[in-house]
Amino acid sequence: MKKISVIGGGAAGLACAVFLARAGEEVTVLERGERVGRKLSATGNGQGNVTNLRMGEEHYFSDDRAKVARALARFGSRETVSFLQSMGGVFLPDGRGRVYPASRQASAVTDLFRRELARLDIEVKLGARVTALSYDGTFHLTFDGGTMSKVK
Ligand SMILES: Cc1cc2nc3c(=O)[nH]c(=O)nc-3n(C[C@H](O)[C@H](O)[C@H](O)COP(=O)(O)OP(=O)(O)OC[C@H]3O[C@@H](n4cnc5c(N)ncnc54)[C@H](O)[C@@H]3O)c2cc1C
Repeated sequence: MKKISVIGGGAAGLACAVFLARAGEEVTVLERGERVGRKLSATGNGQGNVTNLRMGEEHYFSDDRAKVARALARFGSRETVSFLQSMGGVFLPDGRGRVYPASRQASAVTDLFRRELARLDIEVKLGARVTALSYDGTFHLTFDGGTMSKVK
């Protein structure tokens, strides 16, 4: 088991923490704010538009569309929905393929993450702003209110 610190408790950091903990790693999320998922709770006009079933590389700005297509082939809207469902949520598309939680509350998505973090025993440090990160064979991470050193 590795000890892994995830910097930032937004959608990306929370998903990353869940995947790592499910793989058996010991994970700590360091979030500078007073709660995780703040932006996530506001998405889709507060209704939580988490993905679109008609997702394709043509919808992204990129100078490497093939790279976008490869990333979407590995983890696209189907995988996104099934990941969110694996935490116990119910998600439904509207007529334009936009997928929302059945409650149409973005905060319900954040709640799913909070429950999964607790279930997987993921430590969350709030008010922990990372101010420095270095590597000399060991990772040294400094955050407001403390430091951590972890061997790779
Ligand atoms: C009003 C609004 C509507 C939106 N609507 C949609 C939508 O309909 N559909 C859609 O797909 N997307 C939508 N988005 C975009 C979507 O919410 C974001 O793309 C997504 O939440 C970004 O997640 P993230 O984890 O990449 O970044 P963030 O949510 O920004 O998370 C980064 C986290 O890292 C923390 N952090 C940063 N620096 C440090 C540090 N030094 N130390 C510790 N912590 C740190 C921050 O506090 C934050 O919690 C919307 C966004 C907003 C604001």
